[in-house]
Amino acid sequence: MALLGVDIGGTKIAIGLASESGKLIEQDRFLVAETKTPEATLDRVAEIGKRLGTKHGQDITRIGIGSPGPFHNGRLAQPANLPGWDGIALAESLSARLDRPAYLQNDGNAAAVGEWMFGQGKNSQDMAYITVSTGVGAGLVLNGAPYGGPHGNAAEIGHIVIDPAGPPCNCGLTGCLEAVASGTAMGRIGRERASASAYLRSLDPADIGAKDVIRGWQQQDPVSSEIVEQIAQYLGHGLGILVNLVNPERIVLGGGVMNAGLPFLARITHWTEFYSMPTLYHETELFLSSLGDDTGLIGAIAVAIIGDPAKSPRI
Ligand SMILES: [Zn+2]
Repeated sequence: MALLGVDIGGTKIAIGLASESGKLIEQDRFLVAETKTPEATLDRVAEIGKRLGTKHGQDITRIGIGSPGPFHNGRLAQPANLPGWDGIALAESLSARLDRPAYLQNDGNAAAVGEWMFGQGKNSQDMAYITVSTGVGAGLVLNGAPYGGPHGNAAEIGHIVIDPAGPPCNCGLTGCLEAVASGTAMGRIGRERASASAYLRSLDPADIGAKDVIRGWQQQDPVSSEIVEQIAQYLGHGLGILVNLVNPERIVLGGGVMNAGLPFLARITHWTEFYSMPTLYHETELFLSSLGDDTGLIGAIAVAIIGDPAKSPRI
């Protein structure tokens, strides 16, 4: 008896076979571009799932899926990161191919469920997971169950407008948290301001990314330090809204930009306090994710474990 986790991304798809308790047995992945249509992609996912099950002599009992949204009534609804996938019912399609029940959460919520079951959210009732990478995503576990709203689209903290005078966002709004404080934004501001920084000027200007700005900050480059501090302030602004609205026990931060580690978390924590009501802030703890690069897949497996949140007992 085993579970199958399917982590769907805009670029690649990871499939993991796991024990019923969520221990990863083996995983495989492929690039979405290797298949020509969503149907062919899902056929490949099902083939890999069957192969992994057979190889390890395991009967798959449930499938958990994490995917970029948004969704409407279980179908992808014009997903910006999965062009051509509009209208695809992921859970239904994989359930039909593998003849097993399948459960779907958006990628932010799936990662939150993984962090809640296996990472820094363990033993909490109310927590939020925030990923700061190419974009800014989030997921919520409230009262011991994932919270996605009626269609699974809740917790879009990345598209809270933080700076109305800021740059346009992919979602159509202007000055979203994602547009001003993602890894993409950090790299863009680094390129824009490179001429003012001896450190950034020494790099190939077209290639400057978030990693370079973080490295500059770690080396006390003044321009890089200003950029990182500004982004920590924006993130703290977003998290302050979250603290006041939801008052989670824990906020767990992951994603590539959070590889900047505890010193960066300390700056975000400083600004979160600045933007939160004091009592609520002191009831919330911020952590770095402990699940690393496999957060998405572990989240998908966790979605398989809980199955239908409406029917599963609350922990
Ligand atoms: Zn947006």
